[in-house]
Order: sequence, then structure tokens, then C-alpha cells
Amino acid sequence: MKTKGFFRHTYFNTYYYANIVNNVLSGDAELLGFISNFFADEGILYKLAEPFQKKSAFHVFIQHIVGEFFDNDMHEHDERDFKYCQLHARDKFTPYAVHALDDYNMENYLDGEEFKTYDDVEKYHEELYLTGILWDLYEKIADEIFYLMFNNRKILLLFNDMIAQRMDRINLVDFDEEEYEQAAKYFTKAGILKRVHIPEWCKKAVYFRDRGRCCLCHKDLSGIVSMNNKNHYDHIMPLAQGGLNDVANIQLLCDSCNTSKGARSIVTSELYESWF
Ligand SMILES: [Zn+2]
Repeated sequence: MKTKGFFRHTYFNTYYYANIVNNVLSGDAELLGFISNFFADEGILYKLAEPFQKKSAFHVFIQHIVGEFFDNDMHEHDERDFKYCQLHARDKFTPYAVHALDDYNMENYLDGEEFKTYDDVEKYHEELYLTGILWDLYEKIADEIFYLMFNNRKILLLFNDMIAQRMDRINLVDFDEEEYEQAAKYFTKAGILKRVHIPEWCKKAVYFRDRGRCCLCHKDLSGIVSMNNKNHYDHIMPLAQGGLNDVANIQLLCDSCNTSKGARSIVTSELYESWF
């Protein structure tokens, strides 16, 4: 059954991949290469510069990291497992991707396929890439990780900080005319995005995540307890510092915290209201 506004979580190794995203963003030196790979696509920052896409910049990043690690895991697992099943003839070989695709009720393209040699397995991998099904799978896993991590403002800050450091290096002079025109729509100058209207869906998501309270002083902003407290949807990483117009870069603040914070300071909170 499909219900509008809901999606089914399957959690295929979701926590495992979420932990990798966490380690990459926390600056694990062995994983820094994965950040460089993400930015290897030179157009990536202009794609992320488009304001408030529902597939947020954070989704795009998570999906990239999941893709790289899944790919690696798939090859490692299948090579090892295929050898094992050949030695123990009773055990049936099931490719790594099939475990995940079955979990998500996605087409696995097996169709009674038999794996006689490891070449057959590699051909099967090839087919999964060509059909695009793996990319769809990464997207599903990324949606689940986003759901978990959107609640973690420290990680959001680390993510936005990573982006901001790259924004700093953007040089509009390097563009050809068409690229320049495209970029000029979103940037006020190199590396600094224009302030734009924040859409209602984004405000709603942030409001519910932050439970209608100022992230810094925890003042109630619901309008039920007090009518005088105004809501501010604040950029965690300020635009002036290379922040994105992205749902993962917005937090709920009250009037006075927003004013005292100043346009260039980077503050969020690691305090959360307990469930009970
Ligand atoms: Zn406040």
C-alpha cells in the first residue's frame, strides 16, 4: 500500500552505510579520498547550487558514498562467496546485490541465471550497472540514511562545512559563457549563493525536526504558548561563508538568537529534547 507522504523503510545495511557517511564527514583520514571523488565531477557544485531541491545536496552526497562502498562490498563479497560455494557444492551462491534488491522488492534480473564461472558473476554485475537498477537501489538506501541523519545537526554542520570549503574555490572566470550564465543565476559572486525564498515544504520539515523550538535557546515557537516569538529559518552554514540553499542547511531559531548570532557565525546545537 502506498500512502502519500510515507515511505517504507527496509534498512538493508542502512546503519552500516550511515556509519560510513558519518566517518567520511568526521574527517577519517583514510576516507578523505571519497570526498575528493565526490568533487571529481567538476559540475557537482553547480548542481547543488540550485536552491532547495527535494533531492537535497545531502541526499546526493549520501548516495554517492553508498554507491562507492556498495560497489566495493559487492565485488568483495561475491568473489569470496562464489569461491566458497564452489568448494562446498551444497551451498547456493546468491550475489550480494540480490540480497539488497530482494529486500526492497526490486527486480533482480536473475531469471534463473546460473553462475558456472566467476565470469558469469561479472557479467551479471555488468547487467546490474547497465540497467541502472543499482543506482535506484543506492537512492533507496540514501533516502533511509537521510531520514536517520537529518536529525543529527552536528553531521549536517560537518556536511555543510565540507561543501563551503569547496565553494570557496569556485572561480567564475574559469567558465565558458553558457556555464557562466547558468551559475550567475544562483551566485552573487564566486562561491556565494543568492538568498532565496525558502519553500514551505522545507520550513515544515525543519519545524517538525526541531519540534517548533529554537535550536539554541529551546524557546517554544509554536505560537501556542506565546504569540510574540517569531520563527527564523536560519542557514546553519551562512550563505556568506559558502553555505547552500538546502534543507540540510536550515535550522529553526528564535528572533533574539538569530539576531545575536550574526550573519557570519556558524552555530548549531547538539542538544535534543528527550523522548521521555
Ligand atoms: Zn533562541
